[in-house]
Amino acid sequence: MRLTEDARDLFLPAACASCRSAPAAGSGLCADCAADLLALRPLLASTALRTAPPVVAGGPYAGTLAEALNEYKERSRRELAPALGVLLARALAVVTEEVPGAVLVPVPPTRAARRARGFDHVAHACAGLGDLRPVLRARPRPDSVGLSPRQRAAHARASLHAVPRRLAALAALRRPAILVDDIVTTGATLGAAAAILRGAGVHVPAAIAVAAA
Ligand SMILES: [Zn+2]
Repeated sequence: MRLTEDARDLFLPAACASCRSAPAAGSGLCADCAADLLALRPLLASTALRTAPPVVAGGPYAGTLAEALNEYKERSRRELAPALGVLLARALAVVTEEVPGAVLVPVPPTRAARRARGFDHVAHACAGLGDLRPVLRARPRPDSVGLSPRQRAAHARASLHAVPRRLAALAALRRPAILVDDIVTTGATLGAAAAILRGAGVHVPAAIAVAAA
């Protein structure tokens, strides 16, 4: 099936990443689906963990946004980055009203995910949004399906670490850091990322995500 889809992509103009019934414009979406995406408004995501900073997401993980995000991540459709980046920018605008002068710290992909996609999808969607500081790295992550929130949090802590030199440089800036992720669910990953930065004395007042599940 996947082979058929890949072969189709070679010969036909790319279909809209969401409805697939219309050809995509340069954004990877047809005009109607692009309008759907732009009609979304930022929302405050609710997370199960106290350790996670407050998260503002570009919209709910559903419909056009979910389709576009999946195609961007799973099929490496990089042309969707600007459309998804607009949602990140709106979420960021909500946060920076309260926190001026912040830098952005993207949640990293595992090495395997990055290799499979061919790019770092979160950092790529942040292009042009601000001062990007990729200080975190991800270790291979076991499947977290079926785990309790506490177990998820432990997994997330074990899977993230910082590049010491970069973390020290970030701490020396004495500027607040806003974490950036693609989808926020339980907040376990963002809580773990925040703990690492806070451990180095970095203030982490908030996070942003493209979508909230
Ligand atoms: Zn469409």
